Amino acid sequence: MTKTLKGIAASDGIGIARAYCLVAPDLSFQTKTIADSASEVKRLEQALQAATSDLTQIRDKTLANLGQDEAAVFEAHMAILADPDMVGQIKELITTKMINAEAALQTVTDQFITIFDGMTDNPYMQERSADVKDVTKRVLSHLLNRPLPDPALIDEPVIIVAHDLTPSETAQMNRQFVKGFLTDLGGRTSHSAIMSRTLEIPAVVGTENATQEITTGMSLIVDGLDGLALVTPTATELAQFKHQAQEFVQERATWQKLRRVPTVSQDGKHVVLAANVGTPDDSNGAVAAGAEAIGLFRTEFLYMNSDQLPSEDAQFVAYKKVVMAMHGKPVVIRTMDIGGDKPLTYLPLPKEMNPFLGYRAIRISLDRQEIFRTQLRALIRAANYGEIRIMFPMIATLDEFRAAKQIFNEEQQRLVASGVSVAKKIQLGMMVEIPAAAISADQFAKEVDFFSIGTNDLIQYTFAADRGNEHVSYLYQPYNPTLLRLIQHVITAAHKEGKSVAMCGEMAGDRLAAPLLLGMGLDEFSMSATSILRVRSQMKQLKTTDWAKIANQAIQHCQTNQEVKQLVERHLQA
Ligand code: PEP
Ligand code: MG
Repeated sequence: MTKTLKGIAASDGIGIARAYCLVAPDLSFQTKTIADSASEVKRLEQALQAATSDLTQIRDKTLANLGQDEAAVFEAHMAILADPDMVGQIKELITTKMINAEAALQTVTDQFITIFDGMTDNPYMQERSADVKDVTKRVLSHLLNRPLPDPALIDEPVIIVAHDLTPSETAQMNRQFVKGFLTDLGGRTSHSAIMSRTLEIPAVVGTENATQEITTGMSLIVDGLDGLALVTPTATELAQFKHQAQEFVQERATWQKLRRVPTVSQDGKHVVLAANVGTPDDSNGAVAAGAEAIGLFRTEFLYMNSDQLPSEDAQFVAYKKVVMAMHGKPVVIRTMDIGGDKPLTYLPLPKEMNPFLGYRAIRISLDRQEIFRTQLRALIRAANYGEIRIMFPMIATLDEFRAAKQIFNEEQQRLVASGVSVAKKIQLGMMVEIPAAAISADQFAKEVDFFSIGTNDLIQYTFAADRGNEHVSYLYQPYNPTLLRLIQHVITAAHKEGKSVAMCGEMAGDRLAAPLLLGMGLDEFSMSATSILRVRSQMKQLKTTDWAKIANQAIQHCQTNQEVKQLVERHLQA
C-alpha cells in the first residue's frame, strides 16, 4: 500500500525512481574470544581486500567525475589500508590476544587516531586522524557485513533518501542518476535545499521520518511541487505522476523563448531578474537561464571547496571569471558568510550554542582582518574586468558597515599606491537580513550604495525560528504582514535616498511573493537561476499599479500569513 510522507517543497519538479538510502549502518560489535586465529586473520584480510576494492572504484569514479584533488582523499585511504605497520599490529593482536578481528581493528586504529589527534602543531597529521576513522568504518562494515552507502558508485536512476545533506554532499551528486532528494531534516532555505534548486533536482525536505519509512530499493515518487513523497506507489499513481512530471517539463520548455528578453510588467515597469550563484562556473548557467545580472555570488563556497584559505590570486581568478562571463552585466559579490550552517574544516570556529546568532560572516571578517583584506584586494582587482559590486553580509549596526567600508578604502588605496590600476567606483552595499538593519534602513540608506534584502535570514531572525529546523518551519512566513511591513520600510527608505533595493532571499522567486514585491517597488529580484524564466513569464501578466494596491491592502488590513496568501491567490486567479 502506498505510504505518503509530507515535507517541505524545496526544489520544483517530480522525480520517480528507486530509493537510495544514504544512512550510515550500525557498526557496533562485541569483543569476543576466538578459537582459531588463522581463520580470523583470514577474515580480516578478506575485509581489507573488499575495502580496497571499494576504494579503487570510488577513486576511479571520483577522478573521472570530479578530478584529481577530490580523488586524492581516496588514494590516502588506500594507502592507510596498505600500511604494513598498522595491518601487522592488528594481526598480531588477533593472534596474541585471541580476540575477534573487529576488536583488534578498533583497538589498533584507535591508537593511531589518538597519536594523530595529539599532533597539535601539525594540522596535516591531525587531518589523517579523520582518514583513519573513515577507513576503519569501511573495514568494519565488511567484517560485519553491513554495507556503507557510496553515492559516488551510483550508476542507475535513484532518489537519495537521507537524514540531512550538507551543501557539499548535494553539490557532488551526479545529476545524470540522481532524480530527487528526500530528507528528514531541513527547511526551504537551508543551503542544501538552495543547492538542489541550482542543480534542478526535485527535492522534498523536512519529512522528519523518511529514513525510518524507506529502505534502499523501494519504489518512490518525490513531488517537489507540493512537498510530498509517495513510498511504493500504485501503478495508477505512477502513471498520474509521470504525466504531471511531463507537463512540468513542457511548461518549463515554453519559458525558454523568454531567455533573452527584458523583464517588463504588463504596464511597462522594468525590473531586473538576477541569479544567485555559488561557484564561478554557475555564471554561464545563469546567463543561459536568462539572468540579467548576478544578484548574489555566495563566495563562501570558494572557501568551503578548498582545504585551506583561498589565496588572493585564486580568488581573483574566480571573481574575474564570474564578471567576464557576465559581459558587463552587474555582479554583486558578497564577502564571505562563513559560520551558521557553513563551517570551514581548516578554520576552527568556537563551539557555539547558537551558531546562527554567533561568530559568522562580517563578524569574522572584522575580527580576522587578514582574511577580509585578502578577499577585498582580490575583488578590487577583479573589478577592472566588469561591473563588480561588493556586498557585506549580516550587517547589524552602522559601525559594522563603516568599519568594513574603511577597510575597503584602505585596501583600495594600498593597491593604487603599489601601482595596480583599480576601477574608479566600486559600489558598496549590504545585506538587509537582520531586523536591526531593516528597522534603521533610513539611516543605512544614507551611507550605502545599495541594499539586498536577505529574507532567508530576515525571516529566521524576525520570527526567531531556525531556518533549518523542520519543527519550526511553520514560522517561515514570507507573506506575514509583519515581514511585509519591514520590507516596505526598507524599500521606501532606500528610494528616499535614491538607492536601489534588491532581494536575494528565496522569497524573491516565490510565485505568490513576487507580485507583492513588484507592487511594493522592489527594483531587483535575485533567485536560483532555474526560477528566473518562470518569474519573468509571471511578471509579463502583472500590472504594477494593481499590485501596489493589493500589497498595501495586505500590509494595512491583513493580519496573518494565511490571509495574505489567500488575498494573493484570489487576485492571481482573477
Ligand atoms: C539570505 O539570508 O536571505 C541570503 C540570501 O543569504 P544566505 O541564504 O546565504 O544566508
Ligand atoms: Mg543570509
